[in-house]
Amino acid sequence: MKAKKSLGQHFLIDGSAIRQIVDAAKIGADDLVIEIGPGRGALTGLLVKQAAQVLAIEIDEDMCHILRRQFANDKNFSLVAADVQLVDLCELVQNQGFSRAILVGNLPYHITGILMRQILSARDVLSKAVIMVQREVARRITAKPGNKDYGVLTTVTQINCVPQLIFDLPPSYFEPPPKVHSSVLRLQFDGAPQFIVEDQDLFLKVVHASFQQRRKMLRNTLRSLFDGNDDLLIEILQEAGVDATLRPEAVPVGQFELIARAWDKRR
Ligand code: SAM
Repeated sequence: MKAKKSLGQHFLIDGSAIRQIVDAAKIGADDLVIEIGPGRGALTGLLVKQAAQVLAIEIDEDMCHILRRQFANDKNFSLVAADVQLVDLCELVQNQGFSRAILVGNLPYHITGILMRQILSARDVLSKAVIMVQREVARRITAKPGNKDYGVLTTVTQINCVPQLIFDLPPSYFEPPPKVHSSVLRLQFDGAPQFIVEDQDLFLKVVHASFQQRRKMLRNTLRSLFDGNDDLLIEILQEAGVDATLRPEAVPVGQFELIARAWDKRR
């Protein structure tokens, strides 16, 4: 069966990479695993051997047909034949009688941004996520302050979890090979977050405005949020304890939230 480009289908064919991904999830016998985009079941085969239950969400009916046959005898396997973007992950986990799940997925790259948002907003029901993304996206997610890749995606991710690069994969590990290199990441939600975002909209406003001009200092990049009221901006930065002369790429993730909180108090 021909892979469907429109669904981002690139199937993993390297046995050792498959094993490393599943190992990175450190699945226990009591765990619920949610797999996004199982495809032909490359990862699923190992997941059902290790987890209490595997819920796999796949949009392509041809793949669903293969999966139903392949895992017909695995009582701990269930298939959700749906577009994952329409699935409420929190509800899915709770309906299974679990408080948390491990998410695993070799994600379709054309909707990585949307899926990242969906995964992060389900952080209350996820202990961790082991995901494959495009290498450049992985660099942005795991970047440290001061790095050129540090930006909106970094802050939005790291405010919710601790991301770790597990390994990179070349295109030859897939059939058909994608045009880009890939990376596997583990996003640790348990024991994270370091930060609670009190007002998501405000936090996002601060982050987006900050990184609009990454070469400028915060006292300039954030001006657009305060209608030219520079005194107010400086007071907010002082109250947040953030150096107004820093460039956004040098600002640690938690400080964007401190700015948002100080702003919230002055509204
Ligand atoms: N996990 C398999 C593997 O590693 O070989 C397949 C990975 S492939 C990169 C992405 C998979 O996600 C495909 O099976 C594709 O059909 C599925 N997919 C694409 N868009 C989806 C969506 N919106 N909802 C659920 N599955 C989707």
